Amino acid sequence: MAEVPEVETIVRDLRAAVVGRMIARAEVLLAAAVRFPSVDEFTALLTERVVLESNRRAKYILLPLSGDLLLAVHFALWGTLALVPTEQPRLPETLIIWHLDQDQDLRLIDKLGYARAAVGEPDTLAERLDLDSLGPEALDPDFSVDVLARQLARRRGVLKSVLLNQRVLAGLGNRDTDESLWLAGIDPRRAAASLTLDEITRLHAGIKKMLEEGIALRGTQRDLFGVKGQAVHRRHIFEKTREPCPRCGTPIAYIRIGGRNTFYCPNCQH
Ligand SMILES: [Zn+2]
Repeated sequence: MAEVPEVETIVRDLRAAVVGRMIARAEVLLAAAVRFPSVDEFTALLTERVVLESNRRAKYILLPLSGDLLLAVHFALWGTLALVPTEQPRLPETLIIWHLDQDQDLRLIDKLGYARAAVGEPDTLAERLDLDSLGPEALDPDFSVDVLARQLARRRGVLKSVLLNQRVLAGLGNRDTDESLWLAGIDPRRAAASLTLDEITRLHAGIKKMLEEGIALRGTQRDLFGVKGQAVHRRHIFEKTREPCPRCGTPIAYIRIGGRNTFYCPNCQH
């Protein structure tokens, strides 16, 4: 599942292997994969552009290009990017191909077909993707217990839903939220504003641990070069309904919160 550890792994690989290189041309295999502009404009804008940087904001990959353009890629649930030789056969789930120099392709692949890309001037793209309203990044060095406390205090609603709201905190997906709450021993159904400072401190540590370990292990999916990451998708409780809690042995419970699958231990998360 493509959450921040998986996206960040690809962003770092792009920085190492694609920044400084030329996109000769783009080829769109699934029109719906281009969020904006039109497919014709998308391919016209992406002809002979140099990739200048590789950055991430929440789950967006942001690639500044020559000619004052910004290319955004979003993996949705299961998308990824692969850097492969041009002659390598295309998987049927390939959505977009950026033909690079040196006979290599950068391919956007998603078995569900939900991954999306968009290109435009940086300001236009930020406005259309609403990038400026995203909350603080959970991986930013400035993300402190105080920042988390402030973000939670002003929100009404269920803790899990508030944590998934990227305007409150950018960087937590469904899996990483459930695992962070388990690490912290906090019930996902709590009211966000009800947490004590001690609980917020534990939650902050849990979030940092989940994300930093996930990145150190290079996520749960394949990286840009096809090498499988070593992080575990079903780590302690996620998608482990009725299996024993690794901490107390109580069967893991499954509920829906805000329409999202949620897993937690009914005994040791309060
Ligand atoms: Zn437990």
